Amino acid sequence: MPRASAPISLAIVGVGPRGTGVLERIAANLPLVAAGLDVTVHLIDPFPAGAGRIWRAEQSPLLRLNSMAADVTMFTDESSTIDGPIVPGPSLIEWAAQVRSGSIVLPDHARSDAALVGEITALEASSFPTRRLQSVYLDWFHRRAVAALPPSVRTVAHADEAVAVDRWGDGRSEVRLLSGERLVVDTVIFAIGHTGAEPDADAAGLVEFAASADLFYLPPAFTADADLTAIAAGEDVVVRGMGLAGVDLTVLLTEGRGGRYVPDSAGRLEYLQSGNEPHIHLGSRRGVPYRSKVSSQLKADRVTPRFFTAAVAATLEASSDRLSFIDDVWPLIAKELLWGYYGELFAGHTARVLIGWDEFAEAFAPLQWDSADLATLIARAVPDPVDRLDLANLDRPLAGVRFESGEDLQAHLRDHIERDLHLRSAEDHSPTLALFYSLLFSYFDLGGIVDSPKWSARSRVEELGPWWTNFFSYVASGPPAQRLHELLALSRAGVVSFLGADTWVRADAELGHFVAGSPSLDHEVHARALVDARLPVATISASDNPLLRSLLASGAGVEEVLDDGEFRGTTGRLLVSPGDARLIDVTGTPHPSTFAIGPYTSAPFVGAFARPRTNAVSFRENDRVARAALGQLLAAATARMNENDGEGALNPLETHVRLPQGA
Ligand SMILES: Cc1cc2nc3c(=O)[nH]c(=O)nc-3n(C[C@H](O)[C@H](O)[C@H](O)COP(=O)(O)OP(=O)(O)OC[C@H]3O[C@@H](n4cnc5c(N)ncnc54)[C@H](O)[C@@H]3O)c2cc1C
Repeated sequence: MPRASAPISLAIVGVGPRGTGVLERIAANLPLVAAGLDVTVHLIDPFPAGAGRIWRAEQSPLLRLNSMAADVTMFTDESSTIDGPIVPGPSLIEWAAQVRSGSIVLPDHARSDAALVGEITALEASSFPTRRLQSVYLDWFHRRAVAALPPSVRTVAHADEAVAVDRWGDGRSEVRLLSGERLVVDTVIFAIGHTGAEPDADAAGLVEFAASADLFYLPPAFTADADLTAIAAGEDVVVRGMGLAGVDLTVLLTEGRGGRYVPDSAGRLEYLQSGNEPHIHLGSRRGVPYRSKVSSQLKADRVTPRFFTAAVAATLEASSDRLSFIDDVWPLIAKELLWGYYGELFAGHTARVLIGWDEFAEAFAPLQWDSADLATLIARAVPDPVDRLDLANLDRPLAGVRFESGEDLQAHLRDHIERDLHLRSAEDHSPTLALFYSLLFSYFDLGGIVDSPKWSARSRVEELGPWWTNFFSYVASGPPAQRLHELLALSRAGVVSFLGADTWVRADAELGHFVAGSPSLDHEVHARALVDARLPVATISASDNPLLRSLLASGAGVEEVLDDGEFRGTTGRLLVSPGDARLIDVTGTPHPSTFAIGPYTSAPFVGAFARPRTNAVSFRENDRVARAALGQLLAAATARMNENDGEGALNPLETHVRLPQGA
């Protein structure tokens, strides 16, 4: 290990939560892996480092995190199974407490922001913070990560976008920036996160139709970035998507347009219109919003998984030649969900069951989750249908339901949302919390085998990502209860109407309008405006990010294509090597000194901030990548020392060349 090395350089492209997280791991590991390494770290992001694009401070204060303040951390902890050192630090709520106590001092811009200071003062563990507050936490984390770097490391921030990376014959890379600047570096880590997509064929058709008929169409986008000014007050707008993007969009088109909520005489929320709102017609495949966050308490000590645990998953993986999510794993998870739910019902609500837990558990254990025998057992043991968990109905509550009139559909949806809020907040229904835990534990335990090479191509392309992640988000990662109370108020005020399940939209050239409806109801809505309220699908070949497109065009990167003879398809993700996330090129070779992490890569991705003490996947990957990158930098430094007979021939500043744009 060199005491003082030849100067070398690293580029981190994208400095949002993952980019700054990997920087923190570099700081933590450097003294152990590569002490004394003389490194220049180029931090490249057009948005502020730490927060990045999604969490930038410049966004509506109405947009909130979908996580509670106690459930967000940027720090490794005792649960982290990493090779590098654990460097504990405050979760978001602990950070707010330290700001309040004065042990953390906010930067000037945040201190003079009365709304932010007020939010920090009132923040509780169960609060859903604004994205602007998360922005300050991430900015603080980033500054701390930079400060933790040893003196031999310099950081150079570039408020710029990387547009291409060229490989040099000597193993170095040249990162081209939009400004024309070029950085020659030894190692590159891409952490470019959520990127947009060019409209697919359907969306492109709608864009064209909207342009020709003078209509407004917004394809899948990041809601915070969308320009909604063309949606006029009072006009009908069809919104496809009732997940989190749909919630954000509704917030921006209502409260964001000056509406207010006040308590009504029945203790509910009443929406007071500003007059600037459009009339929002909300529809989706399920036709209902995601399930509310749960706020009840368990009566039992804990939920004890049995049918799908980390050990069960590992054994299944080891003993299978081929893994199918739907055939092999989902039946175990479904059974686990029922087990967790009924375990809590029997433990905490004995008056509502007719047999003892031991008898139920013994009869339950050998049965299939969807068997008639299990349905019979449940009907015998749990007399009230409200207490029974029907997974199919949970997933598709409007399946096969038809309504006589629009009023019936609206009333049914309001009942559905009210019932969901009740099930998820009332102490009487604590089994719903157990269901949430069972789903969360299953999600984490599946994480242990999610990068197994044994998954069928269909499972990787269609089941693990789209189906399972969507089901998880719908049941366990829906909006805070407050948002659903607001939705109810908007529905009562007539600002929002529901379209029903399996919503369809037609671009009607004769009428010159969008027409929307659903099989739930014999009714059509005509509208000038249509919004696809969902995040763009991370498909590298359709990405709107020039860097990703250039990686593909040069063959330095490839989209993950899976073909097992029975099924061929693409996940749309950038292919990286399992474990150390090295970029794999068109010949199938992992690049020794280029890494890629985050939601657009083929590595397992948990689409959320780390929860404290859950051995977060992202921390494990950040640590592995930081150590691998440091190893690579050390090798480059050693080679350069040898080449130059111990003299550092390159000045790090010489690796940072400004060329005219377009050169
Ligand atoms: C809208 C939205 C809301 C979310 N809400 C929550 C939530 O409430 N709770 C939760 O736990 N999780 C949430 N998540 C998930 C999670 O927090 C994000 O996945 C997290 O932002 C991922 O971090 P990242 O650094 O990988 O990506 P990003 O946050 O997308 O950061 C990537 C950075 O890379 C930069 N970049 C991209 N291309 C280039 C380039 N060519 N050159 C230079 N820089 C580039 C971007 O500007 C950006 O700053 C949300 C995600 C989204 C998209």
